Amino acid sequence: MKVYNTLSRSKEEFRPVDGKEVKIYSCGPTVYNYAHIGNLRTYIFMDSLRRVLKHEGYTLKHVMNITDVGHLTSDGDSGEDKMAKAAAKAQKSPYEIAAFYTTAFFKDLDRLNIDRPEIIAKATEHIDGMIEYVEALCEKGYGYETSDGIYYDIGKFPGYGKLSRAKLDEQLAGGSERVGINEEKRHPADFAIWKKAPKEHIMQWPSPWGMGYPGWHIECSQMSRQYLGDLLDIHTGGVDHIPIHHENEIAQSEALVGKKTVNYWMHAEFLLVDNGKMSKSLGNTYTIDTLIERGFSPLAYRYFCLNGHYRNKLNFTWEGLSGAQTSLNRLYETLLAHKNAADVKITETVQGDGRYADMNVMDAWKQEYEYALSDDLNIPLALSVIWKALRYPTKSKKIYEFVLAADDILGLDMEAGVEAAAKAAQAPMNADVPEEIQKLADDRLAAKKAKDYAKADQIRDQIKAMGYVLIDTKDGTKIEKV
Ligand code: AMP
Ligand code: ZN
Repeated sequence: MKVYNTLSRSKEEFRPVDGKEVKIYSCGPTVYNYAHIGNLRTYIFMDSLRRVLKHEGYTLKHVMNITDVGHLTSDGDSGEDKMAKAAAKAQKSPYEIAAFYTTAFFKDLDRLNIDRPEIIAKATEHIDGMIEYVEALCEKGYGYETSDGIYYDIGKFPGYGKLSRAKLDEQLAGGSERVGINEEKRHPADFAIWKKAPKEHIMQWPSPWGMGYPGWHIECSQMSRQYLGDLLDIHTGGVDHIPIHHENEIAQSEALVGKKTVNYWMHAEFLLVDNGKMSKSLGNTYTIDTLIERGFSPLAYRYFCLNGHYRNKLNFTWEGLSGAQTSLNRLYETLLAHKNAADVKITETVQGDGRYADMNVMDAWKQEYEYALSDDLNIPLALSVIWKALRYPTKSKKIYEFVLAADDILGLDMEAGVEAAAKAAQAPMNADVPEEIQKLADDRLAAKKAKDYAKADQIRDQIKAMGYVLIDTKDGTKIEKV
């Protein structure tokens, strides 16, 4: 299997350190608000990665953190504390805020069929470990104290910038980091690994440097090491984490351990809305509840995401989501037709192309499907193979079985979807239509049969005026609300 490694900017053969069990760390949410659909795209990617690795025969030891300590509104060390801000607004304690949004986050994961990592690590439950980590960095000469905290001295770490390949000095020369920088920092990009808390700060813990709280980046370095050890196979997150958060994690972890600590860095690209950024001021930071309120199923959003490769930007529009919902429903309906069919053998042979010998069309689908999964999680390609099978002119239970087996990766609740499609197909036509309209429709049919077309048309108009249209189908007249 190949995966794209952000560090090398190339697809690499995936080889876990111990051969069988894959150690993964995923940056989890900061729980001061509902997750928006962009956040959730990144977790759908994380889920696809889990499912494909399992499909390839690996077992997983996967850790995701929950950032329930407030960190600042910017990735750097400036701005307000998000958790404190949310707590003050709701007049609740930050612990209540974090508990509420953690529950909401897991509910979203469940609704999207995102499997949970084996270990969920809350930052507030690891403060002692973080303090020890900061102490160890100081002992090794990477941390220094200022009046407001302990900072990481990036001048001591020559590899700084290797993940983002950013030229630090160029970046800083014109950047906003210069505005209001802490004069005590040795380098403008030095970052806090521990913050001293002003008295009024609502989340703080005793430490060798007085009351305070951990820097955001230290959380991930410490918790990943505590559960997974000095060398992880895979570390995931969204692309926004590459230049600061993950760069800082590398600086901390490699300084402490003395060597590389992550073999493969994998990042999900951003979700855009109407080709732009999501933002509170534009009112487009949609949540799963927003989608449900507008009549869509969470799995339609999952299906929407699976149609884009995780390394490409994905543009969300309501039309796009509506298309995804229609396709997903059609997938269930077509799968139902295959389920209801006999166990017909598919005998077509596809011609080899030089690389491949001639083979049975079903074997060709299977091969292409497996290839797609193993080629850096090409789920959109895998989905297109599934559609090739579904659209095959012969209906067969064999195709049903092939497509259903793919649900281990796609996670679209295919069995339940097929059952619902079967129920819908059995429902009598026009079951929800008021009796009065149904009666008029019957009168119209009688008029038509008696060749009284003027009367038939007049009744059709009358029905239309009452808000219904008549559609003649081979099974009878369908009545639909306009
Ligand atoms: P946060 O809770 O802000 O740390 O974000 C949680 C995850 O969502 C991180 O891995 C981010 O990289 C990711 N993320 C944030 N915004 C987007 C977006 N628009 N599209 C995809 N992922 C995002
Ligand atoms: Zn992280």
